[in-house]
Amino acid sequence: MSADRLIIFDTTLRDGEQAPGFSMRVDEKLRMARQLAALGVDLIEAGFPIASEADAQSVRTIATHVHGPVIAALARCNRADIERAAWALEPAERRRIHVFIATSDLHLERKLRMSRAHCLKIAMEAVRFARTFTDDVQFSAEDATRSDPDFLWHVVEAVIQSGAKTINLPDTVGYSTPDEIQSFFSNLIRRVPSSDQVVWSAHCHDDLGLAVANTLAALTGGARQVECTVNGIGERAGNASLEEVVMATRIRHDRLPFTSGINTSEIFAASQLLTTLTGEAVQANKAIVGRNAFAHEAGIHQDGMLKDRRTYEIMRPEDVGVTRTTLVLGKHSGRHAVQKRCEELGIALERHELDGVYRAVIALADREKVVSDDDLIKIAAAARTAPEAPASVFPPVTDFAVTPAEKGYGHGV
Ligand code: MN
Repeated sequence: MSADRLIIFDTTLRDGEQAPGFSMRVDEKLRMARQLAALGVDLIEAGFPIASEADAQSVRTIATHVHGPVIAALARCNRADIERAAWALEPAERRRIHVFIATSDLHLERKLRMSRAHCLKIAMEAVRFARTFTDDVQFSAEDATRSDPDFLWHVVEAVIQSGAKTINLPDTVGYSTPDEIQSFFSNLIRRVPSSDQVVWSAHCHDDLGLAVANTLAALTGGARQVECTVNGIGERAGNASLEEVVMATRIRHDRLPFTSGINTSEIFAASQLLTTLTGEAVQANKAIVGRNAFAHEAGIHQDGMLKDRRTYEIMRPEDVGVTRTTLVLGKHSGRHAVQKRCEELGIALERHELDGVYRAVIALADREKVVSDDDLIKIAAAARTAPEAPASVFPPVTDFAVTPAEKGYGHGV
C-alpha cells in the first residue's frame, strides 16, 4: 500500500449508532453495511458485541453477508468481551478485533479506578488474547489526547510488541486543536521505537466543531487510518464526517496529498439511506450532503452559476452522487434564474411576460420563502393571459436595480 493511501475505518454502525436517536435494528444495520461496502470503505466497525445481544447479532449478520471491507468489532480489555467479538466476527472473510482501554489519568483514576501499571498489563494481555483469533488487532488508547505522553508512549510500544497492527489515538471528547493533534501524532510516532510496524489512526469527535480539521491535521502528523462516520453522526456532537474528510483530500489534494478508496458517487446515497433508516435529518447547511450544499439562491450567485459553475462550486454535485445543482427560486433570485427555470419547465416567455413573472415570483417568495415549480407554472400561466403592462407603470426591472442589497451583494463571498 502506498504511503499516501488513506484507510477509511467507518464507525457509523458502532460510534454513530451509539448516539441518541440513531439506533438501528439488525436488518437496518445490514442495509447500511451493504451501502458502506458500495461506498468502498476499507473497514466497517459493525458494533460492540458484548454490549447487547442485538449488537452481537448485527455484527455476525454483517460478517456473514457483507463482502469487501474488513469487518471490525469493539471489545474492552477482558476475555469475555474479546471472545464475544471473536464469535460475532467468525463468519467474516477478513476480521479485525478492536480492543480499547483509557490511558488518561482522569479516566484511570476516576472511571476505571486502576493504576497505570495495571492498565499497561491488561492492555498487553488483551492484545495477545485477541491475536489468538485474528492477526488483525487494533488497539485504541481511549482519551489519548488527554493522556500523559510518557505513559502513552510505553503503552503503545508494549501493545505493538504484543501484536497490535493498528494504533488508534482517539480525541475521545473532542478537546484537541489541529496544531496540537498534528504534533501529538508526529511526536509519538517519532518516539515509539516500533512505530513503523503499525498503521496510526485518528478518531476525532466534534465537540468544538473541529473533528474534521483535527483528523486532517492528524494525517499531516503521520496518521494513515481515519475513523469516521456518514453524516458525522456519533457520540454527543458526533465523529469526523466521512464525506468531508474524503472530499477535502480529493478537492485539496495539493495540500492534503492522500488518496482513499472511496467511490465518491455513492456518498449521497449513503447519507440518504442513513437518514431514512434513523429518521434523523441532516442539517440543511451540512457540507457535502446537506440540502443546501449545492443550492444557490442569491441573484449574483445564480447568474454566475448559469454562466460557469466553477464561479460558485468547488466540486461537482454529481461527483458525490447529487444529481444536480439546485437553483432555488427565492426572494434573492434574479431574472436570469427565473427565465432558466421557466425554460427547463418548457415555458417560453416574451420579454414583457418575464418581467411580470419575475415580479410575481419575488412577491410570492417574500411570503413563502421559496417558489416551487408548481407555483411558477401558475404564475407564468397568469402572466401570459394578462395584458401587457404599460411601461410607465412598471419601470424596467434588472437583476440589481430593485433592491441591490438582496441581489447578491449582501450575500457574497
Ligand atoms: Mn468515539
